[in-house]
Amino acid sequence: MDKFFEFGSMVFGDEVMRERLSEDTYHSLRQTIDCGSPLELAAADAVAESMKGWALEKGATHFCHWVTHMTGLTSEKHDAFLFVDVKGRALTSFSGSSLIKGESDASSFPSGGLRATSEARGYTAWDCTSPAFVKEQTLYIPTAFCSYHGEALDTKTPLLRSMEILNASGVRFMRALGNKKVKRVTPLVGAEQEYFLVDKQYYDKRMDLMLTGRTLLGKLPPKGQELSDHYFGNLKPRVAAFMRELDRELWRLGVSAHTEHNEVAPAQHELAPIFSIVNIAADNNNLTMEMMKKVALRHGLVCLLHEKPFKGVNGSGKHNNWSLCTDDGFNMLKPGKNPKDNTVFLLTLAAVIEAVDNYAELLIMSVASAGNSHRLGAHEAPPAIVSIYLGEEVTGLLKQLETDGGESAQSKSLKLDVNTLPQFKLDNSDRNRTSPFAYTGNKFEFRMPGSAVSIAACNTFLNTIVSDSLDRISDRLEAAKDKKTEAYALVKEIIAAHGRIIFNGNNYSPEWVAEAARRGLKNINNPVDAFAALKDPKNRNMLIRKKAYNAAELESRYEIHMLSYIKTVNIEAGTLAEIAELQILPAVRKYLGELSAAYSSLAANGIDSPALFADLGRIALGAERLSAASVALKAAVIAARDTSELRARAESFRDNILPAMSAVREACDALEGEVAAEYWPIPTYFDLLFRV
Ligand code: ADP
Ligand code: MG
Repeated sequence: MDKFFEFGSMVFGDEVMRERLSEDTYHSLRQTIDCGSPLELAAADAVAESMKGWALEKGATHFCHWVTHMTGLTSEKHDAFLFVDVKGRALTSFSGSSLIKGESDASSFPSGGLRATSEARGYTAWDCTSPAFVKEQTLYIPTAFCSYHGEALDTKTPLLRSMEILNASGVRFMRALGNKKVKRVTPLVGAEQEYFLVDKQYYDKRMDLMLTGRTLLGKLPPKGQELSDHYFGNLKPRVAAFMRELDRELWRLGVSAHTEHNEVAPAQHELAPIFSIVNIAADNNNLTMEMMKKVALRHGLVCLLHEKPFKGVNGSGKHNNWSLCTDDGFNMLKPGKNPKDNTVFLLTLAAVIEAVDNYAELLIMSVASAGNSHRLGAHEAPPAIVSIYLGEEVTGLLKQLETDGGESAQSKSLKLDVNTLPQFKLDNSDRNRTSPFAYTGNKFEFRMPGSAVSIAACNTFLNTIVSDSLDRISDRLEAAKDKKTEAYALVKEIIAAHGRIIFNGNNYSPEWVAEAARRGLKNINNPVDAFAALKDPKNRNMLIRKKAYNAAELESRYEIHMLSYIKTVNIEAGTLAEIAELQILPAVRKYLGELSAAYSSLAANGIDSPALFADLGRIALGAERLSAASVALKAAVIAARDTSELRARAESFRDNILPAMSAVREACDALEGEVAAEYWPIPTYFDLLFRV
């Protein structure tokens, strides 16, 4: 453990294990972590005993099996290490079986029909590949969560399966290319996390933020993000203090928080960790989100993780940087010195291109949610059309391979015409911030995930679909006499068949929408249609064949996503109607009362005030409009709830409730521009975005 950073000081990581476990136990546990061989109960008992001793020293009194749910949230049930014997003496106890398995009545968690309340048993199983840690006097044990019948009830189990699936295909692929040494292929992920910080005193007065995570009404102040002065701007002292404390907390928990900066929107920020193995990255990202919220409160701030907390400024995403690495540290997506000769690189790249083109719908589905729908397709975020940015150099390379000729593009140097400044080699691709899936030199950056949810689902799909392509490639390589010739033939074929997914231009332009339609790429711009990808036989058959999910698990995910969408919009509609009717309208009427009293007394004194009269009329009309819009919204909600078929109900919420909410919002926001600030009953966008 590094003393300066205290990195991992609260983690039962490799160093602690090596120090505290017997050589045999350490070896068995490493075999389980590295090679997936089962852990004997005796070894589990020894690990548990040692983990308990270590956790007690770190101040823990409890342990908990830490679970990720299909909704993307995490949950925990704490058990004390306490054991009281018949003589009433208190002892500490923690066995191997309490470490590896937990059982709980979990019927209240959404299961999408996988578990009826009458069969409530849910089991948690220790994921020893993601280290346990102590936080708030509790030993957290990362676990997978499944039903009595073995169906996955979480996002972690499918992710772990997808890692094994991709490992098998990756190793087979490397063998097919003649590499006999590689034993493991692992997806690595660095998830950049965007978020907003607002002052708690304003947050506490906004029912919409408290109940839904986003503002449902609010007018932008005269200044928004147009000057781009917040992006990478220097940090306000309070924000800097928050970031430093967050870093410390995360480092102790073994989360490699690395880069922090202000983002484009006012009050928006980003944290990027150093990449790690994908299941650890997913656990660490969950921890990061939790700690962001907790540390913010200590600074009188509230951290907003919603994808679109404010209308009119950028929303927040979670850029998922993904690459594939072998156990000997070789990045399969790194072009190397001679990319043209690097068949591993060329074919891995081709496999990703083929996979993304074949199953773009699954990637969209994996990030679809009510929250993210306000972001995707809007101007700051990637559009709802999946395409891949490769950059000039790699696109050029693929073109050359197609035509079989020419020299590789030479890497360029940057010259600034100032002798004292260094000259350096340029990266082999510029950045394209508009692309949803961009190759960035040695990894792909998937930019569609929203800021609020776990990265487990998108990586589960990404791993699985790439594995599917690698298998197809290996079939061909294994059957070929001349591997090298076959490898180039495969690259050419894949680019010819799937080149339509490559787009290096501006993804925000209307021309691209038209061009993408011509290319036959799908534009799935709402979550309800996105979830339908789980019903498509082509997608289902592949996921079931690859054993990433079984049929019942897919069905349950479909149901959970649809229901979660409906419930979210339902809560938002109810919250908005309540704010409109119980906060905004009464305030507006009070102001109207004041204005009309002023008007009457002026008139009584014979003073003509046409401007005041006009104000009165406009505001009175605005209040009528708001009242009518709110009544209409409530009626629409009642009608939508009545639709019994799930998809039709979700469509009704999408097509009827969202527009009815917009009408209420427009009426509110127009009034906000008319009513005296001291009468406005809730904190404004100015308070939230600029008074941090
Ligand atoms: P950007 O400038 O694109 O915002 P950041 O430095 O903020 O870049 O984030 C890039 C992320 O990508 C970091 O989390 C980083 O650790 C991660 N990353 C770098 N190399 C790899 C790789 N080979 N595989 C996966 N992730 C990577
Ligand atoms: Mg970044």
